[in-house]
Formats: sequence, structure tokens, C-alpha cells
Amino acid sequence: MAYSFLTKKAAAGTALAATAALVFTGCGSSTGEDTLRIGIKYDQPGLGYQDGREYTGFDTEVARYVANELGYAEDQIEWVESPSSNRENMLSNGQVDMIFATYSISETRLKTVDFAGPYFVAGQDLLVQEGNTDVTGPESLGGKDLCSVTGSTSAKKIQDKYTSTVQLVQQNSYSDCVVALNAGMVDAVTTDDIILAGLASTKANKGELKVVGNTFTTERYGVGLPKGSDKCPAINAAINKMVETGVWEEALAKSVGDSGFKYNTELNPPKLTDACATVEKK
Ligand code: GLU
Repeated sequence: MAYSFLTKKAAAGTALAATAALVFTGCGSSTGEDTLRIGIKYDQPGLGYQDGREYTGFDTEVARYVANELGYAEDQIEWVESPSSNRENMLSNGQVDMIFATYSISETRLKTVDFAGPYFVAGQDLLVQEGNTDVTGPESLGGKDLCSVTGSTSAKKIQDKYTSTVQLVQQNSYSDCVVALNAGMVDAVTTDDIILAGLASTKANKGELKVVGNTFTTERYGVGLPKGSDKCPAINAAINKMVETGVWEEALAKSVGDSGFKYNTELNPPKLTDACATVEKK
């Protein structure tokens, strides 16, 4: 553990912030210019998850690797919760420097933010109670109650394509949707397969919930950046290095391997150029 932050802190005279940082992370943490503020999810097991003082999941592993390549040690990262509907605003307002939060690159979002990456490609799927046999894909949702999250591409896909037959309930997070599913208040939850796999494999949900396994979109997870960022080349180089050194694969196995989730090997791992991401024209 490096203690250089103590002198910096004293010099800056930000004793209160220092105390808060110490309480928050449980160990030394730099603030101000030395800190990289990274937006993640706090309630998506295997992707972005706050476990006491620890932050776990594939998003946090990629974020740590990239931060390190950019010259930030782990104790210089300040994790910030970034719910789906707040992400563009948090980047535009300068509340975070970058976002690793199952954040799909989309045409709409590219109007207000930039994306490096993608560092993973997922697909939208459905989560149901273990005994459910009638929900088999998006076409089987007629008359069903479906839960998704405000501001997500998952909710938008349903609204754009299936809304005439589906009752869509929108919550602030997928964990809230899972509560509704377990209580029988909705028939299914929809978002990306990797997120659903993580949620289905928690102690409480194992054997109770299952992922349908019939993906119907392509979700390219980008690193959200403020519009006009100059960081895409460095971040993309870091992601390529993470893949080439086998760390990407290891991080994925460690994060979601236990859930039995199999990622799409035709689309993963992505190979990146220097450029910021654009949407893929089909
Ligand atoms: N990847 C989708 C999105 O960016 C769904 C997951 C999420 O809401 O974070 O909206």
C-alpha cells in the first residue's frame, strides 16, 4: 500500500474528502486529478456488483485493466454507481470520467456520448421462473407482463417491436425486475443474456429462475466517454492487450463462468482499431 496520498491530501487540505475516501474504500485512495471516476452497475452479479467494500464482475475487471494501462493504480479508481437511465447524463455532466456498465453502443447514445470498445458482445434474452414453459422467445410474449429497465436498449427494443402484445413494466434496475419475477408479479425479465445469467446464478435464484437462451439482438458493450474524448486509441489498445494476454478470457471465466453462461464466440472477443466505436450498419 502506498501512503503518498497522505501527504498530497494534507497539502491539498482536503481532510474531509480524504476521510470520506478512506471510509468508502477501506484503504488509501487518491482524489482530485489523481483519481479516475468510473461508472459501473452495483447490482448486476458477474458484471458490476458492490459486495461490501469490494467491486466485482467483468465490467470492473476490464475497467481495472484499462485504468492500469492508462496509468491509474487500483487505489486511484473511484467507483460510481451508474444506473441505466443516468449514464449519458453522468458523462455529459462530468460526474464520471468513463463508464463500464453493460453499456451498449447505440445510435441514440452516440449523439451525446462517445464509446471506446466494444469489449464484449452480448444479446438480449429473457429470464423466467424455472417451471415456465410458455415463454420461449420474444414472439411468445403475447399478453404477458414483462419487466425491463428505464433507459435501457432492452426496454426500447420491446417498445419499438413488441409493445402491441406485451405489457412492459419498467424498473430502475434488473435486480428490481428479479424481485417482481420472483413474486410472480411479472412473467419474464428482459435484458442481455450475460446479465440474466449472472442474476439467475445467485444463491437465492439458483434453481428458481432460468435464462430462455434465445437471443434476439446484438449488444456491443462500449466504454462510455464524454463526447469529443481523446481516449479511444489508448482504451482500445488496452482492451486489445487484455485479450491478447489471455486476461480478458480469464476475467470472463472468473466473473460469469460459474453461471454456465456461454458467450458468442463468433462475436467475441472483439478486435479493435484506434477509432472510437460507431454503430454497425447491417
Ligand atoms: N446493454 C443494454 C443497455 O445498454 C442493457 C443493459 C443495461 O441496461 O445496462 O441498455
